[in-house]
Amino acid sequence: MTPVRLLLHTCCGPCTIFPLHVLRQEGHAVTACYFNPNIHPYREWERRLHTLADYLARVGVDLDVDDSYDLKAYLEAVLPHAHLPSRRCPVCYRIRLDEVARRAAASGYDAFTTTLLVSPYQDHEAVARVGREAGEARGILFYYRDFRPGWKEAVRVSRELGMYRQGYCGCVFSERERYWRARTGGREFGAGRAHADSFRNGTGSGGAGADPGDAHPAPGEAAG
Ligand code: SF4
Repeated sequence: MTPVRLLLHTCCGPCTIFPLHVLRQEGHAVTACYFNPNIHPYREWERRLHTLADYLARVGVDLDVDDSYDLKAYLEAVLPHAHLPSRRCPVCYRIRLDEVARRAAASGYDAFTTTLLVSPYQDHEAVARVGREAGEARGILFYYRDFRPGWKEAVRVSRELGMYRQGYCGCVFSERERYWRARTGGREFGAGRAHADSFRNGTGSGGAGADPGDAHPAPGEAAG
């Protein structure tokens, strides 16, 4: 793609390193955009923002921050799917990417993309699909790139720079899931609910609620 003005949705500092590097190498004029009402609690949202802002100042990239942090609207949208990450996460992607697409189109950018495309812990295909749909709906190009090959190198660089690396994806559900798995020997959160339900209604050992679409990091590993 020829160089364009591009709005980069950024979920956190560590995940920004590799996509930003690639996009700038390709000659695009990149502005970052932080719109993440999915990050809970608020202090965590702030901490990730400060880490990101410090990094962007260091590498000379402008940052557009949406600090509306509409927690109520976010929770109302994802709550119906709270126990199924394969359904919950696409809703979460849509909330964020639709708003970034709207901002990009309204501000005259040529394209937008997202750092969610770098993380092996995200549902990559869902991010790409939702990004394309948001772009079509808002009349702006979604620039798809599989940034995942740069993930390990970005982890290394972020550690070298002493950046804060979060231990869960962002929402309160993902924050619980990491401890739930540690406590249950890796069993899925949804599976745990089915397990508990099965004991309540006497139908067996449970586990049918496991969601194979979920994949989040171990405690201490940045989720992206
Ligand atoms: S796990 Fe991450 S992507 Fe999925 S709903 Fe929570 S914050 Fe959003």
